[in-house]
Amino acid sequence: MVLRAIAIDGPAGAGKTVIAREVARALRFRPLYTGLMYRAITWAFLSRGIPLEDCDRMGEEAAAHTLTVDVENGDPRVMLDGQDVTPHLRLPEVDRGVSRVAACPKVREVLVALQRRVAEEGQVVLEGRDATTVIAPDACLKVFLTATRKERARRRWTAGDVQVPYSAVLEDLIRRDSADALREDGPMQVHPDAVVLDTTDLSPEDVVAMLVRLYRERCET
Ligand code: C5P
Repeated sequence: MVLRAIAIDGPAGAGKTVIAREVARALRFRPLYTGLMYRAITWAFLSRGIPLEDCDRMGEEAAAHTLTVDVENGDPRVMLDGQDVTPHLRLPEVDRGVSRVAACPKVREVLVALQRRVAEEGQVVLEGRDATTVIAPDACLKVFLTATRKERARRRWTAGDVQVPYSAVLEDLIRRDSADALREDGPMQVHPDAVVLDTTDLSPEDVVAMLVRLYRERCET
């Protein structure tokens, strides 16, 4: 079965979120930002004092929460047990902890099941580290977005908190790249059928136009 969906993978700062939002807007699809789900659950663990080393406990806790991602004017709103947690998702402590949470297979199992349910409805643009390889390998368009490490760090830095120095953003990104690539469960990989797009010198508008064109060519014919 081929899914009428676009799955976008790639490392941190490659532009997945912005591109997914704009492509979804252009096609009138639903965007699903899977990284925000890992961030929301990380924030829940941190605020409840659950140790991020305890994968069994995190798995149980993840299954006990209700997590939904709504979209309002293209912007995500993440609800955890009915509470809007969106403002907490980019906190530095969440940045620091999220890869550890995402490396826990039991947490991934819970979140991937939720994400697949949304993907199977079709007309979705999914973005996240394992969107093409694990969540929606049947998506009719699979894309791996990338950019140089310096450019990805620059994008994160200009979009984030002005108090945080560029060097700290770059350091965090290097650490997360390696944690995401090396973990055993759902590591970041390039799907053999994915279109690999280096966005270092491309504007978001160029990337969106390319993906909309590719979707029309590959999925609507
Ligand atoms: O995309 P974002 O930077 O918000 O993702 C935060 C973290 O969540 C990533 O560094 C990665 O560890 C994890 N993640 C994941 N699988 C996904 C999406 C995000 O492991 N599908």
